[in-house]
Amino acid sequence: MKVKCFECKGVGYYQPKGWPVNVTCCMCGGKKYFDIPEGMSVCETCRGAGKLVVDCGGFEMECTCEDCMGKGYVKKETKIESTMSDEDIP
Ligand SMILES: [Zn+2]
Ligand SMILES: [Zn+2]
Repeated sequence: MKVKCFECKGVGYYQPKGWPVNVTCCMCGGKKYFDIPEGMSVCETCRGAGKLVVDCGGFEMECTCEDCMGKGYVKKETKIESTMSDEDIP
C-alpha cells in the first residue's frame, strides 16, 4: 500500500522559500510515497516518516517516532461493531 508523502505532497522534492533549487524531500527521500504493508495504517504521530523533527531552541533534532518504533506504520485498529438491534428484544 502506497501512501502519499505528506511533506512534499507526493512530489518527491520541494522548493524552499527564496531558494532557486529544488530540495529532495527528507521525509520520503524523494520516493514520493511511503510503502506500508497491507493491514497496517500510517502512524498518525509521524505521518509515515518514522521520525520526528523536534525544535530544540533553534536546533532541529531528528528522533525516532516512538509510536511506530521508526517504521512509519502501525497495526490497524480493528473495531468490532455491534449489529444488535432493539427489535431482537422480545
Ligand atoms: Zn516527501
Ligand atoms: Zn510514527
